[in-house]
Amino acid sequence: MIGIEDYEPYVGAEQIERILQKAKALADCKVVHVNSTYYGGGVAEILDPLSLLMNNVGIDTSWLLIKGEPDFFSVTKKMHNALQGGKINFTEMKTTIYEDSLQKNAIRMNLNDFGRVVIHDPQPLFLINHFKKSCPWIWRCHIDLSSPDQELWDYMAPVVERYDAMIVSSESYKRSVQVPQLIFMPAIDPFSIKNKELSQAEIDERLEHYQIPTDLPLVVQISRFDTWKDPVGVIEAFKKARREVDATLVLLGNIASDDPEGPQIYESLLEQAEDRIILISQDDSALVNALQRSAAVVLQKSIREGFGLTVTEAMWKGTPVIGGNVGGIPLQIQDGYDGFLVSSVDEAAERIVTLLKYANLREQMGRRARENVGKKFLLSRLLEQYIDLLDAFDISFHLRNG
Ligand code: UDP
Repeated sequence: MIGIEDYEPYVGAEQIERILQKAKALADCKVVHVNSTYYGGGVAEILDPLSLLMNNVGIDTSWLLIKGEPDFFSVTKKMHNALQGGKINFTEMKTTIYEDSLQKNAIRMNLNDFGRVVIHDPQPLFLINHFKKSCPWIWRCHIDLSSPDQELWDYMAPVVERYDAMIVSSESYKRSVQVPQLIFMPAIDPFSIKNKELSQAEIDERLEHYQIPTDLPLVVQISRFDTWKDPVGVIEAFKKARREVDATLVLLGNIASDDPEGPQIYESLLEQAEDRIILISQDDSALVNALQRSAAVVLQKSIREGFGLTVTEAMWKGTPVIGGNVGGIPLQIQDGYDGFLVSSVDEAAERIVTLLKYANLREQMGRRARENVGKKFLLSRLLEQYIDLLDAFDISFHLRNG
């Protein structure tokens, strides 16, 4: 099992020592993270290693999931979309489904047994309504809140204000609510199957298994099948780029258990599949790793993106990324230095052509990308931010709540 000491080669002994010292302050505190899915999507991707690492440094940390019927996840996905600027037909039926389901979950979850409760994203947000708060509650929102549907936000804001802190991924996601707001950028686990070093033989084995040809350079996007990730735009950009340079496009996506829209979007893309446009719907972390390592270019052409873990994952592997110039992605890619930011299909196509034509540029950007992730986006940094926050409550919370 990976421990914090394993991060030393990447972040240095000083940071590890500091984290271990700080964690001592929380030795008697039980922490729980709550979200809505065990796999698929960036939140689960972070909570798995983060909760283990917190235990490793001596903080008793649990990870619990809320359960819901398809109706519940259909409503929460609509809320997710509307928080990112989409439309929602906000009916009483929807709020009833949402609130009733969380009430049932609250009855089964003994959240009063913990000393800190961290709630992730909107799905479990209203759980707090069913507890007499005996400790600090934190709402960690991973999505882009810069232009939410106003009616939906007005419904959520009073509940957000019951929390003791709110964490977002970027300054522009802060809202005007009476809650201290902090910025934590997500981070990756360099030791996971998805991110660890792979031998060429391991990479080849995965690509062969899925019959992915390697005779031409690979252009890859790895994302849940979701319109915000703009798979249609990726295919269009690839087709344009192919008029100038030959390559193979691979779109890999998994389906998160809390995202009911995925299968439909995948089906709708299938008619675009051809020899050089390969669509794969699979949950296979080693394949994600192999593709990110063997791609000449990784795309993350999102239209909205709280923070794209896939961007950071590919950059860690020294692969240049072309990302949508939206949400958290400009915080991850320095345009023209360690990747490219794009705002249209044409720009994406142009950048694909440039990167495919110039191997030196790919190599240089890839090296800078890896360096940037090593400095800013490894899980040890996120762990330290959580420890600082969870510890900071001690005095202020008890003063306020008697
Ligand atoms: N992912 C995966 N397989 C896939 C597609 C995505 O394992 O086929 C992972 C991806 O590697 C990343 C996470 O799911 O770790 C997606 O996180 P991101 O922040 O990019 O997007 P989200 O899905 O949270 O919107």
